Amino acid sequence: MKKVSILISVFALPALYMPVAAKQMSSPGGHTVVTTELRDGKPVYSITHNGKTLVKESPLGFIANIGDFTSGLVHEKDSTGTFTADFKQDRIKHSNVSFKANTLTSYYRNADSKSMAIEWLVGDNDVAFRYVMPRQGDTGSAIIEREATGYSFPKSTTTFITPQSEPMIGWKRTKPSYEEDYSNDAPMDTPSLFGRGYTFPALFHVGDDGWVLLSETGVDGSYCGSRLSDFKDGGYTLEYPMPEENNGNGSASPGIALPGATPWRTITLGSTLKPIVETVIPWAPLQPLYEAKEGTSTSGRGTWSWILWQDPSINFEDQKTFIDLAAEMGYNHALVDNWWDTNIGREGMEQLARYAQSKGVNIAVWYSSSGWWNDIVQGPTGLMSRPIARKKELKWLHDMGVKTIKVDFFGGDKQETMRLYEDILSDAADYGISVIFHGCTIPRGWERLYPNYVGSEAVLASENLIFGQKYCDEEAFNATLHPFIRNTIGCMEYGGTFFNKRMRKGNDGGNTRKTSDGFQIATAVLFQNPVQNFALTPEGVEAVPADAVSFMKMVPTTWDETVYIDGYPGKYAVIARRNGSHWYITGISNADKALDLKLDLPMLTKGSTVDLYSDAPGKELKMEKMKIKDPSKVKITLHPAHGFVIMSE
Ligand code: CA
Repeated sequence: MKKVSILISVFALPALYMPVAAKQMSSPGGHTVVTTELRDGKPVYSITHNGKTLVKESPLGFIANIGDFTSGLVHEKDSTGTFTADFKQDRIKHSNVSFKANTLTSYYRNADSKSMAIEWLVGDNDVAFRYVMPRQGDTGSAIIEREATGYSFPKSTTTFITPQSEPMIGWKRTKPSYEEDYSNDAPMDTPSLFGRGYTFPALFHVGDDGWVLLSETGVDGSYCGSRLSDFKDGGYTLEYPMPEENNGNGSASPGIALPGATPWRTITLGSTLKPIVETVIPWAPLQPLYEAKEGTSTSGRGTWSWILWQDPSINFEDQKTFIDLAAEMGYNHALVDNWWDTNIGREGMEQLARYAQSKGVNIAVWYSSSGWWNDIVQGPTGLMSRPIARKKELKWLHDMGVKTIKVDFFGGDKQETMRLYEDILSDAADYGISVIFHGCTIPRGWERLYPNYVGSEAVLASENLIFGQKYCDEEAFNATLHPFIRNTIGCMEYGGTFFNKRMRKGNDGGNTRKTSDGFQIATAVLFQNPVQNFALTPEGVEAVPADAVSFMKMVPTTWDETVYIDGYPGKYAVIARRNGSHWYITGISNADKALDLKLDLPMLTKGSTVDLYSDAPGKELKMEKMKIKDPSKVKITLHPAHGFVIMSE
């Protein structure tokens, strides 16, 4: 197929005859302007935000097995319009998605007279674009071999990005799974750790001029996930999965039916981080692919024995202990993790489910996705990879009243893997079961597409605190990145809030937690996922002040609004979230000294009294009443590796 495209590009005509006027499209409020044009027959674009160039001239186009659409293009026409999204959406940072954009569709013909269009949505803080191809005569399908799509930023730009892993490395050859470290204000030309580029979402600080977040959305089972190349020739290029991913199964280049389109590539722009934290572009352009069955559980809280008590806890008695803890905390479920098939057995699981239900809770059940793309031994394996076994299993779960499953260890970002995610979600939906993914890719608008999708890991999650002291030492650093990067584009099933001081069963060994109890409860609000499996243990709950436990009994996991308040990735983060009539304003710090913050909190009422949960060196976590004299100047002292939550009346 490569041969075809090379052949076509040889015949590509240099478009030297007509200077094509640039087309500009402004956002409804005029804050963002996209300029597109053909430069010597090659499509390019640039973006300004509030008068500053945040994305410099960058390439567009793609090479398919049916033609080269990167050069030799002739512009045919443009059409313009408006786009409005206004809908209710559960499971994300806001309960209502409201987005307005002006639209531009530019139509091109390539040197071989084949057609292609680029669709643009230009919002005040978000730009999205995709490539659209009509049916080309008798040709009804195409392989998109690669894209020219690029992103170039001004010289002063620094990066908060995370490398793509080598394929087929890590635990039982399960990577890539979006579990790598981030750069911290690094220069753009820093080579990536593995030489495999970077994964979405990617955050760029354009000096004093603003911030840009790159990602993509609307990737369902009919396309692959994409990533960024290393920095070269002044920018980053959009790249498809590595051929070795998924143990080499499935093609790295996606196939599409014609007429067809690529996913939306999204660019969120702001003078501050506010539009990045609050963006709805991952969901705004999409439509649900099906409806959830009535009674599908789309939010909730759980206990999770595995995180601290690890594999030996997957036995009947320990699971009862964590069911009891879930009941005591008022949570929905206890998550039974790997090896239950061997150590508890199916009859034991049915008994556990009945025991849980007698306590007013439930069990959530773990599966490996594998499969034939890794070396996973933790069972059960082989039940989620193919529809016949999967549907039988889901019926069994449904019949014993299980509402949520967790499926772990996927094989990268290929179209074939995306189809597996979609197949699992679709089959589970038929049984009213919601799905959490671990060892997985990032969500790309999935809360909108799949009504029973309730979370993805795709982050250096809480398990690393058990695996290495380094991650305990860096916990505050990593936690101050996620509200500005990973968690902005979709839910993040982190598995946090530790009350153990030591990262081991019994609280008497293993790695040492370096963050305070106030920090831990703050992350329960800071990290957004509609289903939270908290890292609480019986001994942890015993060890902390009563106010920490009572907070964890009432903290919600769903939000009506999310507002950026203050912070800088890697240093500190202050975010406000509303559930019903209550605001939860939460902050954590990785600064090297105490920060005297004067927060502007317009959501609080002058003269009101709020609950302040906070701690400080030498002062344990406590809830105290605080009178709000002036909501625009709320004083909080935030200590390194500490945190706070303000809960409004
Ligand atoms: Ca993991």
